[in-house]
Amino acid sequence: MEEYDVLIVGTGPAGYTAGLYTGRYNLKTLVVGEMPGGMMSEAFEVCNFPSHKKISGMELMNRLGEQVKDLGVDVKLDTVHEIKRDDREFRIRCERGEYAAKKIVLATGTKRLKLGLPRESELTGRGVSYCATCDAAFYGEKLVGVVGGGDSALASALILSEYAEKVYIIYRREEFFRPEPIRIKEVENKDNIEFMFETEVISLNGVDKLRSIDIKQGSEEKVIELDGLFIEIGSTPNSELAEDLGVSTVDGYIKTDRERRTSVPGVYAAGDVIDSPLKQAITAAAQGAEAAATLYDDLKRDQLQDR
Ligand SMILES: Cc1cc2nc3c(=O)[nH]c(=O)nc-3n(C[C@H](O)[C@H](O)[C@H](O)COP(=O)(O)OP(=O)(O)OC[C@H]3O[C@@H](n4cnc5c(N)ncnc54)[C@H](O)[C@@H]3O)c2cc1C
Repeated sequence: MEEYDVLIVGTGPAGYTAGLYTGRYNLKTLVVGEMPGGMMSEAFEVCNFPSHKKISGMELMNRLGEQVKDLGVDVKLDTVHEIKRDDREFRIRCERGEYAAKKIVLATGTKRLKLGLPRESELTGRGVSYCATCDAAFYGEKLVGVVGGGDSALASALILSEYAEKVYIIYRREEFFRPEPIRIKEVENKDNIEFMFETEVISLNGVDKLRSIDIKQGSEEKVIELDGLFIEIGSTPNSELAEDLGVSTVDGYIKTDRERRTSVPGVYAAGDVIDSPLKQAITAAAQGAEAAATLYDDLKRDQLQDR
């Protein structure tokens, strides 16, 4: 079993940046993630990351990944199924290998929430999607809906409006939820975007592909024909590994101290999976750096105590 100083779970901005720092501290590091670049690789255009006026999320993350690998950090595309702690180290079981590490950084991010309607799973990839950046181009001249009223729903609607004939934004509340002000102006200026407030999707219709949805507005129900439905109703933390390790969480988000230690010694956490307000690439990266710096200090202290 290969042994590392540090195993980092997650190949998003938090995990990669933690690896960048532990690599520079000369710690033997393995970064394992299911998706290179994490959630950020889905971002069509990133305009708020320092140093780039405008860059695709994929390109930004590819560059960061290369920077990490250039330091000699091992990066593996794999799923971590289990982390177990014995006396002084952790044993990690992945889909394609087992490893040991002295310290763990959990940078597992979040996953998208689903509507929870019948046929949602069967129609995913057949009209139902959770990523406008990835799938918008399939809907040229088609009718699509976006469910949700936050900033990411509006951003998705804007991307879709470049391709689709018509985009409905379907939201159950009476006004959008904390969008960037510029985003509201942008959607209002689009002729092919229509808002449907106080509206709920109650059924997804279609056998081989999505054909229509049923919606409810007050007591009235009606059918809208649609080729695509993009679900943007928020996300939930990937904190299963943390919970199995006994790490404390709040509403599923990992609790850390200011230096990114969790409640379990030797386990650190960073990024969207932690209980911190701003869920962005820049904060995830900063927290990854903090976790790496803290674990480096802790590792040195452990080594002094062992002498
Ligand atoms: C469409 C879209 C556009 C966005 N645009 C912007 C933007 O313009 N600017 C901005 O700052 N932010 C943006 N964001 C938010 C940004 O992507 C996140 O804040 C950021 O990616 C969080 O980084 P992270 O490293 O914490 O988590 P993530 O990027 O979610 O990465 C988590 C990683 O952990 C992996 N993982 C989870 N569990 C396991 C496991 N058991 N085993 C192995 N791997 C695992 C995941 O596969 C993933 O690779 C956007 C998000 C989306 C979805």
